[in-house]
Amino acid sequence: MSAIRLARGFTGRDMIIKFEGCYHGHGDSLLVKAGSGLLTFGNPSSAGVPADLARHTLVLDYNDEQGLRDAFIKHVKEIACVIVEPVAGNMNLIAPKPEFLAAMREMCTLHGAVLIFDEVMTGFRVGPGSAQGLYGITPDISTFGKVIGGGMPLGAFGGRREIMEQIAPLGPVYQAGTLSGNPLSVAAGLVTLKKIAAPGFYEALAAKTNALVDGLTAAAKKRGVNFCAQSVGGMFGVYFAATPPTSYAEVMASDKDAFNRFFHAMLDAGFYFAPSAYEAGFVSAAHSDADIAATVAAADAIFAQG
Ligand SMILES: *Cc1c(COP(=O)(O)O)cnc(C)c1O
Repeated sequence: MSAIRLARGFTGRDMIIKFEGCYHGHGDSLLVKAGSGLLTFGNPSSAGVPADLARHTLVLDYNDEQGLRDAFIKHVKEIACVIVEPVAGNMNLIAPKPEFLAAMREMCTLHGAVLIFDEVMTGFRVGPGSAQGLYGITPDISTFGKVIGGGMPLGAFGGRREIMEQIAPLGPVYQAGTLSGNPLSVAAGLVTLKKIAAPGFYEALAAKTNALVDGLTAAAKKRGVNFCAQSVGGMFGVYFAATPPTSYAEVMASDKDAFNRFFHAMLDAGFYFAPSAYEAGFVSAAHSDADIAATVAAADAIFAQG
């Protein structure tokens, strides 16, 4: 919410671009879903969001480089920002095509728009440099949450100095709150960030996540189940589909009933996956190799039953 206000204040423009299936919190401008077809202006996806506000949000397809380029050409000098989950995690896990992120950076720079990476989920989870470090793309503003709070409620955003200097009292963009800079959350977050900065932390996390994904994939293949999985750092996706989806539409085409059966059978066996075919999973530092092996074994037994 604040990052978008800042982007609008900095550029003096109203229009924002988001991608279908990405979630950026419960701010009014962001609770918008696309109508049919490409380049559609959004309709509110929650009661209480004025249509007048939603019409400033352009909803495009994730990983559609051409759609993004077309939108910038159609709305030249109107777009304040592009906001994106650099690895999407709120529609299952969707990996970005490198050219999609690169086009975003190129178009924002060319047209004076602000590129916002929403790293609330990916931040300090996919690597020590978050997704921007992993893919080598520097956004203008980044937002963080989740991991940086160390289990306490915390959100943060930061970016280029000339943009951040637009915030009051230096600049005209207002941002404040009674609990802003909450010392307890910041203390918990700092301890967490120090702990995960230990050498080898991310290598170990990625190795465990890979082992889970590889184990599940091998078990499904052995049992002839239409299933695949992938991971980025400590994030993973499981799909009842032949290949990992690259867009919201492809996620929607995966076998949701097969996922629901798998989810409940795993839960009955004592393994709690994310309870939706449209959420990413996370491996935690607390998961042991034995936990991963037991998860794969349980999935194998379920796949064996068809
Ligand atoms: C969880 C999430 C948010 C929202 O964070 P809250 O702290 O729940 O408001 C925003 N963006 C992404 C990518 C998220 O995963």
